[in-house]
Amino acid sequence: MSFETFVTDKTGLQKFYEAIIEKNETYAPVEKFGNFDFKRITRLSECNPESPIEKTRSIKPLFFPRSAKVMKYVATSAGTEIAETDKDPLAGKRVIIGAKHCDARALQVLDKVYSWDYIDTDFRNRRQNTVIVSTRCDKAAIHCFCTSLDYDVETLDAMDVLIVNGIDGKIYIRAKTEKGNAFLKNFPTIHDSQLPENEAAPALKAQYEAFAATFRLQMNYREVNEKLSKVFDSPEFESLSSNCISCNTCAFVCPTCHCFKISDEKVKDTGVRYKSYDSCNNGYFTLMAGGHNPRPAKYRRWRQRALHKFVYYKERFGENLCVGCGKCTFACPVNISIFEVVNQVSDTAM
Ligand code: SF4
Ligand code: SF4
Repeated sequence: MSFETFVTDKTGLQKFYEAIIEKNETYAPVEKFGNFDFKRITRLSECNPESPIEKTRSIKPLFFPRSAKVMKYVATSAGTEIAETDKDPLAGKRVIIGAKHCDARALQVLDKVYSWDYIDTDFRNRRQNTVIVSTRCDKAAIHCFCTSLDYDVETLDAMDVLIVNGIDGKIYIRAKTEKGNAFLKNFPTIHDSQLPENEAAPALKAQYEAFAATFRLQMNYREVNEKLSKVFDSPEFESLSSNCISCNTCAFVCPTCHCFKISDEKVKDTGVRYKSYDSCNNGYFTLMAGGHNPRPAKYRRWRQRALHKFVYYKERFGENLCVGCGKCTFACPVNISIFEVVNQVSDTAM
């Protein structure tokens, strides 16, 4: 289904963003120490909606926070009482601008696990109350491989509103979902510049083709899925993961990783329970109460990471647990690339 497309220029886009910020609780990439993270903003000058992908954290923490207080409790002579549960600060109606395509796509992947055997109502409510405005990249960064995975970047509908910097110098604003279509009706000034579909579609396609031609990394994900399912015992996992320092950074920045731990911090009679990110690369992740750890070696943990993303999630939910954003590789302190790992291990399949 195609929705309306509007054409504008840099000034028009700026006015569009300003109107969004004025009318809505808005989140956007905000720079700190050279990197960008999605924060609440009240003025366009506080953010850069076109922040470079290699320096921008994902939007996942706006739906699945890095560490969140679940509750506070107090031990009394009568037992333990819940003292306080916080109102969800991320549950209100809001808009994200400057989201990357891969980040928006990652939420569609996470929707599957969060609405599977247990419905995570916090995640679902945050999803339902958020409008995602996403700018398609103009150029792939060095570790990007989103165009090689099991979703079509050109026709992606993971964002509600799509912004495209056309190769003709014009800027295109297109609704991608019913929610996005309804949202754009709040901005009547852009409706003066509506474009017929027979002009909009070729302009968007031309930009996509120019963008797709900039990718250094390409792979056949079906072949990787098939071959990886046969290489559980490959010695390649050991050599490829030998430099890993198990810092978990790759999982913490990944827009699709969703492991978490529950921890209690107690001082005297008062405790706080947190839900925080965890990672299968963490040596203690599978440590059991009796002391047994089925993944004591890092190659086993890396094997789990690679196979979960490209075999197990696919078997259960029908798609890869990776959107090819390259964020794990940009952030890894020892330069381990998931693209190289899955491709090199696949090559060992008979
Ligand atoms: S595994 Fe790496 S490339 Fe894949 S989605 Fe996660 S951060 Fe992006
Ligand atoms: S970021 Fe790199 S070093 Fe850290 S756990 Fe991931 S692969 Fe290992």
